[in-house]
Amino acid sequence: MNHTAHSVAIPILMVDDRQENLLSLEELLSGQGYELVRASSGNEALRLTLKQDFALVLLDVQMPGMDGFETAELMRVNPKTRHIPIIFVTAGMKDRQFQFKGYDAGAVDYLAKPIEPLFLQSKVKIFAEIYRQRREIELHKNHLEELVELRTAELRLVAEDLQASNDQLETRNRELKTTEEQLRGRVQEFVETRDQLLATEEMLRVQIEDYQRAQQQLNESNINLQTLFDVSPLPIVVSSLSDGTIRDINHTFSEYFGYTDESVIGKNGIELGLWSDNNERQRFLKLMCDQQGIAGFGAEIRTVQGESRNVLLYSNIMDFKDEKCLLIVFLDVTEQKRLEEQIRQTQKMEVIGQLAGGVAHDFNNMLTAILGTSELMVRLIMDNPAALKLLENIRKAASRSAELTGQLLAFSRKGQKNIVQVRMDATIHDVISLLERTIDKKITLESRLMAGNSCVIGDPTLLQNALLNLGVNARDAMPDGGTITFATTDVELDSRYCSSSPFSITSGRYIEISVADTGAGMTQEVIQHIFEPFFTTKEVGKGTGLGLAAVYGTITDHHGCISISSEPGVGTIFKLYLPLSGEARGDAVTNEEPIHGSGGILLVDDEEILRDVGQALLEGLGYTVYLAEDGEQALEIYAREKQNILLVILDMVMPRMSGKEALIRLMENYSDVRVLISSGYHQEGTISELMQLGAKGFLQKPYHRQELCRAIAEAIGDVSP
Ligand code: ADP
Ligand code: MG
Repeated sequence: MNHTAHSVAIPILMVDDRQENLLSLEELLSGQGYELVRASSGNEALRLTLKQDFALVLLDVQMPGMDGFETAELMRVNPKTRHIPIIFVTAGMKDRQFQFKGYDAGAVDYLAKPIEPLFLQSKVKIFAEIYRQRREIELHKNHLEELVELRTAELRLVAEDLQASNDQLETRNRELKTTEEQLRGRVQEFVETRDQLLATEEMLRVQIEDYQRAQQQLNESNINLQTLFDVSPLPIVVSSLSDGTIRDINHTFSEYFGYTDESVIGKNGIELGLWSDNNERQRFLKLMCDQQGIAGFGAEIRTVQGESRNVLLYSNIMDFKDEKCLLIVFLDVTEQKRLEEQIRQTQKMEVIGQLAGGVAHDFNNMLTAILGTSELMVRLIMDNPAALKLLENIRKAASRSAELTGQLLAFSRKGQKNIVQVRMDATIHDVISLLERTIDKKITLESRLMAGNSCVIGDPTLLQNALLNLGVNARDAMPDGGTITFATTDVELDSRYCSSSPFSITSGRYIEISVADTGAGMTQEVIQHIFEPFFTTKEVGKGTGLGLAAVYGTITDHHGCISISSEPGVGTIFKLYLPLSGEARGDAVTNEEPIHGSGGILLVDDEEILRDVGQALLEGLGYTVYLAEDGEQALEIYAREKQNILLVILDMVMPRMSGKEALIRLMENYSDVRVLISSGYHQEGTISELMQLGAKGFLQKPYHRQELCRAIAEAIGDVSP
């Protein structure tokens, strides 16, 4: 774009109503690069200026119609033409020179006619130059405007682009905002969900921990239970509740009842024959169903060897390997029951013993009187043989009664005992000799005596009687004959044997004396009662039921024990065990003649009949007799006659002052007094007590003359020759 004003002709309008003026102007201005346009009136000039721009109007002032000033004025009011410079060409211009109103609106100059060519040319040249410059400026301005426009357009485009991008961005932004909000919502949801999850997880963790703890506790208690089950000293069984099948047993159970795991598990109590009584089992199961638990159900259970045991069952329902089961604990009370039975038996014997002892005491007094009286009567009826015979019957019957009373006393263990060392083999020898004389020849007597010189401490008479009783019973059990075998041997009884024995014995060396027969034998039922006094299976008159009671009393008294084995139709073996005391020194049992004496004897007894009998017997032996009814009287008489009294025979049980008190008083007052105690009823303890108080001896009532004189001899032995 290189438009320059030089390249185009500069338009100049010449206005004059006279053609020749126009031509002269044209001549003056031609060839100088001007486009010279002619107008012959003001109107034409106006028309032309409206059509085209001009650098200058050379306007003639004097024209017909519209003159130059009017034309200029009209040009000045039109914005399109007001800027065109005007040079008025006039002849007499002074007068209207300043009439022109638009003088300040555009350049105005004046040329006076006649026109000076140089003047004209220079003035036109100036305006042409101004036009050219204006044009140039215009061109330049246009160019600039074009550029501006272009730039503006470009900028607009850019701005539009920017706007579009901005719009897009805004849209994107909005979308993003929405998305962000959604995301924020999502994130919020996510956070909430995550929190919930965390809370749930925490809860689960706690629950899992609880569960694990519970599981661990469960495991521990399972282990504890298993240990308890394994080490329990009580037999335990786990059996199915529905059919009783055994699921588990503990070690103690197998040990106790002899079963092995394999032989028991999977079977029930009936198949095993565990229960002695199936009704009992039914009762147990019914109770379990009703009560869900049982403590102390008494039952009888059989071991694998068939031995029956008394047990108490403790049971509860429990879950075992997903099954309802019974846990049954067994408490063996067999031994306890046996001991209870033993105690019951012992107590019974004790009570009966007391009773029998009391009766025996009274009987003894009577028998002492009867025997004494009959012995005295002999002297009175010497010359009447018939009466003597009758009296002899009385004496025999009384003796026999005294024997029985003796048995009763032996049973009640209240009789007096003569404690010495007894060689058992010798005693048995005597027993066999006695039996040989009395029993039927159909019965063979045998002996295997292996105890030799072994001795026991005890009363030989009582022991002999005990063995005689066993012999006689054996004889009675064999009416058609058989064999009685006596045997002795030394044995050792251990504590186990002793604690299981119904007798209270301690472990150690014993002599075992067995008396065996091949007779009728006994049922278990009979064996239960044989030691009770008056128990007999023999017909009236044949049996007294006192034999074995006496044996029982004697053996118990000698700290021994008895065992019995018997089978009906086969025979019976009684075994006596007596504590061994050592070897015999010589024969312990003696037999003497009555010893006669002299001197005074004070007989103290509250029973008149006994005083009478005693007096007679003593006088018969050669003594002078003083009588007292009670302790007080005895003390009086002794005080008076002490120089004449050799011995006091003192009854124990008396009214007013007892024998014991009298003894104490006598001993206190007279250091040399000799007292022989006489009683039908005593306890072992009292004798030794009385001996300690100073008594010289003891005389068991009823007494024969023989026993009386021996006791007197022993009591006064230190003075008699
Ligand atoms: P008794 O001989 O007077 O009947 P015991 O006390 O001596 O009284 O005996 C009691 C019972 O014991 C007898 O009646 C008898 O039934 C039974 N008895 C004792 N010994 C034997 C035995 N050797 N064989 C069978 N039965 C016996
Ligand atoms: Mg008998």
